[in-house]
Amino acid sequence: MTQTAKQRIVVVGRGLAGALVAWKFAERGCDVQWWGNGAASASRVAAGMFNPVSFRRVVEVWNAAEHLAEMRATVQGIEAALGRTGQLLHDVPVAKVFANGEYRDTWDARWDENHGVCQWATEGEDLAGAGLTRVEGPAGVGRVHASGWVDVPQLLDALERHFDALGALHDRAWSVKDGLPEGANAVVDCRGVGAAEELTLVGVTVNPNHGDVLTLSTPVEGAGSLDTNGHNINNGKWLLPTELKDGRQWWRLGATYSWHRLTPTPDPQAAVELRAHMAKAFDEEGRTALRGARLEAHQAGLRPASPDRRPTVGPWPGQPRGVLMLNGLGTRGVLVGPAAAESLVAWWLDGVEMPEEMRATRFKSVRAHVPGFQE
Ligand SMILES: Cc1cc2nc3c(=O)[nH]c(=O)nc-3n(C[C@H](O)[C@H](O)[C@H](O)COP(=O)(O)OP(=O)(O)OC[C@H]3O[C@@H](n4cnc5c(N)ncnc54)[C@H](O)[C@@H]3O)c2cc1C
Repeated sequence: MTQTAKQRIVVVGRGLAGALVAWKFAERGCDVQWWGNGAASASRVAAGMFNPVSFRRVVEVWNAAEHLAEMRATVQGIEAALGRTGQLLHDVPVAKVFANGEYRDTWDARWDENHGVCQWATEGEDLAGAGLTRVEGPAGVGRVHASGWVDVPQLLDALERHFDALGALHDRAWSVKDGLPEGANAVVDCRGVGAAEELTLVGVTVNPNHGDVLTLSTPVEGAGSLDTNGHNINNGKWLLPTELKDGRQWWRLGATYSWHRLTPTPDPQAAVELRAHMAKAFDEEGRTALRGARLEAHQAGLRPASPDRRPTVGPWPGQPRGVLMLNGLGTRGVLVGPAAAESLVAWWLDGVEMPEEMRATRFKSVRAHVPGFQE
């Protein structure tokens, strides 16, 4: 039965996970209080890209169609409600530069199989056909048209302003020892890597994965300009055109992945490596432009990664009823986060079963640490 009484929900963590959970509970008429302690947030540096195609094996990512639809509906709903239509979600096609002929064969074979991935992308083509005059890649490119990016920092700013205006935004820390705040029906832990230590004790692994990303700008035309014909270029790293600002074209270039760096501080070596790797996708003129591009920002963050690349959503293992969690958004928070938050809200308010793949009990380690834990 749908629960109609106005519930008091405290959401802890002001990153993407917390924002989506806070928004979706509020949309359902709950009295939401949104807490955060100002600790570093992966969401504040994320490029926010979404892409239903996994380039490693040329297959669809997990639940691509459902997650893409939920992401679009959620972000566009927020845009409309906050008067930001067209400002948060940006459709940008990806041009995957094929590493070699063998990879192209794998890509093109999907069309012979009529594979699900074909709905999101097009068969391999040569660079001139794709209008990629500065890109180099003898094996050609495959284009994904169902991709783009969400301006996550802007989304967070807009939602913080919204909740602040309601008196519901609080600079306040929480840890699981604090339990259910007084008067609340539920507290949702969305602390990302900030929850890792406590979650380890109950068998939930959140591995901090360090990533660097650069913000660059180039002249719009003439010497030093860079043209990707509106594409996000992917050659293992990616170069995403974001906006025209101050008379220049702005880009994000990323990202690195490291399990060894445990603080969210930028790695100077990463800046060199990112430019060098992306330069390989361009001709001489493009390489010169990339080398000369102005560095506007170099940021880094810690992705909250889970061992099976699925989020963990639902009750916080071993805690009293009402202490809940959403963590493990990993490298694909934008695509996975809205569906994960939607599942949490539907489970808590309507009793809709949580998808098996997102439950904490899928981990043997949780079953061993918290015997008898039920969801
Ligand atoms: C370089 C880089 C690029 C990325 N690019 C993409 C991309 O293109 N597409 C994509 O989908 N994903 C991307 N990601 C991943 C994405 O950032 C994450 O999936 C997502 O942001 C995780 O959100 P989160 O809310 O779980 O964690 P976070 O954003 O880290 O938020 C955690 C929040 O909890 C708060 N907090 C911590 N401890 C406490 C406490 N004790 N009390 C109160 N609050 C606390 C923190 O202040 C923070 O606000 C990228 C990540 C990085 C690092």
